[in-house]
Amino acid sequence: MKLQFLGTGGFHPNERRHTACVWLPEHGVVFDAGSSVFRIPSRLQTDELQVFLSHAHLDHICGLTFLLTPLLLKSLKRCRVYAQPDIIAAVEAHLFCKPIFPIRPAVEFIPLSPVTETPAGRVTWLPLHHPGGSTGYRIDMPDGRSLAYITDTTANPDSIPFLSGLDLLIHECNYPDSMAQWCEPTGHSHASQVAHIAAAAKVSQLYLTHFDPQLTSDDPINLASTRAIFPETYLAEDLLELDL
Ligand SMILES: [Zn+2]
Ligand SMILES: [Zn+2]
Repeated sequence: MKLQFLGTGGFHPNERRHTACVWLPEHGVVFDAGSSVFRIPSRLQTDELQVFLSHAHLDHICGLTFLLTPLLLKSLKRCRVYAQPDIIAAVEAHLFCKPIFPIRPAVEFIPLSPVTETPAGRVTWLPLHHPGGSTGYRIDMPDGRSLAYITDTTANPDSIPFLSGLDLLIHECNYPDSMAQWCEPTGHSHASQVAHIAAAAKVSQLYLTHFDPQLTSDDPINLASTRAIFPETYLAEDLLELDL
């Protein structure tokens, strides 16, 4: 199974990264709909999508509007968008309101159930720690493998049971440790905090994503010191593809 990072930045795009979206293109399963969703129409491998939103901050939802074109052209026949009820209400009222976006894309909003079945496996979720709330997701695949997508949040040991034994943990890492003082006020994580959680949850691999857009270097979070805590740590980049 292929997984592709479409956007690995937080808050706003920069020259290197668009904002949040990760997908399983062969199965049409998408996590978040940031600015990088413009990359989906030319790469569609299915005519249905199931999109799981973490929350309604603009860097995670603006790309829903970009699905208008494939829906009108019918290259995308059905698009279900799953989120918490308050997130659905906010997107309907404020993103898909006529002064902001006058043509309502034919997406179906579905309030999250405890479990959602997808072609990639069963999706479960966990509430996260972020201003206004956020939701983390886990997929357990039929062959026993598993992955989780955790953004935006202050890394919290409460999440360890949910993440336990994952093959792949995708976790936000908005800040390097040198900027750790920004984590609590913004509801984000810093590198060593995330590495400790990956180690405690005994995951196989950790991919960090959702970097502060001010950080544009090849190593935004000091990877060497993060690997000293959890060796199997990697940095996500836009369009990076993994074989699961
Ligand atoms: Zn964000
Ligand atoms: Zn956010």
